[in-house]
Amino acid sequence: MRFAKQKVLIALAVFAAIAAGLLIWTVYLVARDRASDDIRSAAERQLHIIAVDLESLLERYETLPFTLSFHPEVVKALQHPGSAQSLADLNGTLEVIQRQAKVSAIYLMNRDGDTLAASNWNEPLTFIGRNFAFRPYFQDAFAGQSGHFYGIGNATSEPGYFIAQPVYATPAVRSGEPIGVIAVKISLSEFEQTWRSSEDPLALVDRSGVVFLSNREAWRYHSIAPLDKAAQDDLAGTRQYAGKSIAPISSLPKTAVAGFGPHVGKQVGRLRWQLMLFPSMARVHRAASYAALSAALVIGIAALSLMAIHQRRRRIEERLESRRALQQAAEELERRIGQRTAELLEANRDLEHKFTKLQETEHLLRNTQDELVQAGKLAMLGQMAAGITHELNQPLAAIRAFADNAVTFLGRGQPDRAQDNLGQISAASARMGAIIGQLKGFARKTHDHVSRVDLGSAIAASVMLLNNEFKRHGASLSTDIAENIIVAGDMVRTEQVLINLLRNALDAVDGTPRREIFVSLRREDGDAVVRIRDSGPGIPAEVAEHLFEPFFTTKPSGKGLGLGLAISSSIVQAMNGQLSAQNWSDGHQGSEGGAEFIVRLPLQPTISQQDGSQFVSA
Ligand code: ADP
Repeated sequence: MRFAKQKVLIALAVFAAIAAGLLIWTVYLVARDRASDDIRSAAERQLHIIAVDLESLLERYETLPFTLSFHPEVVKALQHPGSAQSLADLNGTLEVIQRQAKVSAIYLMNRDGDTLAASNWNEPLTFIGRNFAFRPYFQDAFAGQSGHFYGIGNATSEPGYFIAQPVYATPAVRSGEPIGVIAVKISLSEFEQTWRSSEDPLALVDRSGVVFLSNREAWRYHSIAPLDKAAQDDLAGTRQYAGKSIAPISSLPKTAVAGFGPHVGKQVGRLRWQLMLFPSMARVHRAASYAALSAALVIGIAALSLMAIHQRRRRIEERLESRRALQQAAEELERRIGQRTAELLEANRDLEHKFTKLQETEHLLRNTQDELVQAGKLAMLGQMAAGITHELNQPLAAIRAFADNAVTFLGRGQPDRAQDNLGQISAASARMGAIIGQLKGFARKTHDHVSRVDLGSAIAASVMLLNNEFKRHGASLSTDIAENIIVAGDMVRTEQVLINLLRNALDAVDGTPRREIFVSLRREDGDAVVRIRDSGPGIPAEVAEHLFEPFFTTKPSGKGLGLGLAISSSIVQAMNGQLSAQNWSDGHQGSEGGAEFIVRLPLQPTISQQDGSQFVSA
């Protein structure tokens, strides 16, 4: 689309350029014609003036030889050619008239053409004695007409215009054969001088086409066109140009000005000369070029203005276009924002939905966890059942023995001793009650019941429940318990954790030579810290990685479920605490090694969820 538009524009530009070129050319042609016309008419005016001047010059002397043919001295000299006196008189007269009339020469010839008297009688190149019978002007005059001729002087070699008239014996009658011819020679050199100022070439051409007057030196005595044989013979016969061979002008302007030839011409004089003016073509071209240049300038300015207008219109169009584009972009943006907002709303709804799901799941998880804790507890109870049975059997056997003894003592009439045994029975049953009470509490399902837990008491209760286990494993327990350490949490769950850790410790020391377990409770950095250390083999690195994972166990099936540490860790975390383990073997001198489990609980309770379980290798 855009490409096609560009093509059209280029075509238009080419067309405009061609039209402009044609217009300029037309202006050039018209201006050239106009200039040619102007120059032609100017040339014609100039030629007219020159012709009038020349004719008046020539005509001025036309009557002079005619008048002189009436002069008595002229007639007398011809009638008495032997009279030296009359010739001398005539010479004097002719000289005076010549000077007065300002002509080149006046001279008288007899019927043979011999010069008898002349105004230049006393000059070295005098005409006297010379014969001019071969000249046309002599022949014409002798034939009874007036003779006219232009030529280079035979005696003086100076060019001149000759006018001749016959002289009759009876001048007034002018009939019969003339007795002589009188001639006047007029110089045109002064006239030629006036042409010097003319810029264009001027030429006076005779009938045979030979230039004899010109403001161009090289043109003089040259022909306009090559001369034919007859003309050459004629010139030789009349010795018109003193026998010069006439060559054509070499540098004649040839280019024709529109409407006329290379020159403007006008016939002048009795000899039907051609006066020629060659107007300079350069002037015509100059004038035409100026006009064409002006036209080009006008067209250029017009084109520039058009271009400026076009440019301006285009800029306005572009501005409108960009405004439209901007508006479109704004609309598009608005649309996209709307779309995006809708998407976000959708995503938000989705998220809300997921969040509700998550909450439900979390709730489910918590319930499951509770179930799991309970299950762990029950599992632990099952494992402890044998020990507890044993623990209850002991006081039960003692009660039976004390009762039997009491019966015996009463029979013997020893009520004091019987009373003592009854006291023992009471004590043993109290102990059984305490054990059962602990078990009842432990088996009960609790629900995140937060209360104050005395950690010292919790440790004592746990140890009591495991009393029989310690004995069975032959393990010794040493304790270092600080008093009055209270944390926030659930008593039963805390005991669950402690029992679990103590039972793991008992399992660890089982079958080892020392079988020692050490429990400490201290305040550390504002926390309550319980450490349960054993003299067992410690925790291997591959086990440490999975220690707190549910269902991870190294114990034979039936003995371990792998839930103890996982549940304990989650209970401690729920109490805002941390359960970690480390090996005691390295860095503690005099020690045999073993595992140490550390329960860290905040002394000042703040309940929040935290990831606290970790293993640290000491
Ligand atoms: P279970 O006791 O049922 O195996 P637990 O989660 O309590 O499950 O323990 C996981 C594992 O951690 C045990 O199987 C044992 O390999 C290791 N373990 C726990 N306590 C100790 C300890 N005191 N010394 C060495 N290993 C221990």
